Amino acid sequence: MNNCIFCKIINKEIPALIIRETEDYITFLDAQPVNFGHALVVPKKHFLNIYEISPEVLEKLGEELKIISTGIKKAVSADGINIDMNNDPAAGQIVLHAHFHIIPRFDGDGFTHWHSKSYEYPEQINELAQKIIKSISS
Ligand code: 5GP
Ligand code: ZN
Repeated sequence: MNNCIFCKIINKEIPALIIRETEDYITFLDAQPVNFGHALVVPKKHFLNIYEISPEVLEKLGEELKIISTGIKKAVSADGINIDMNNDPAAGQIVLHAHFHIIPRFDGDGFTHWHSKSYEYPEQINELAQKIIKSISS
């Protein structure tokens, strides 16, 4: 992908603070961190989002997330870690190359949890669960 900023980092055409690199993933520090130590775990192949990442690459994701989360928590003495992935602009995806945010969190760092809703009628949660189960299996 010619114009993809993360592909340019992967190809070493532009600099980044790379903290780990494997055959399938590169991890570098986010240039505009939520908290210091915020990193991005990025598949080296250009996949747009979660729907497109190949099963072979996804297979190795868990290990990467665990290694990086553990390393960051220790390095910056974080009280917690958020792992986040934004898919599609509606969900806040700005860079259109799939990536996972590892964000160190600190007691009282001021970031609040996301807003929640209440279901509008008792059967609604069950209806929704059935709809999703059907969608997953089709
Ligand atoms: P998204 O909203 O797409 O999930 O997040 C993209 C993230 O990439 C943002 O947190 C942003 O700060 C980070 N980012 C964008 N461009 C660059 C860059 O050129 N270098 C680095 N290190 N991070 C970047
Ligand atoms: Zn890319």
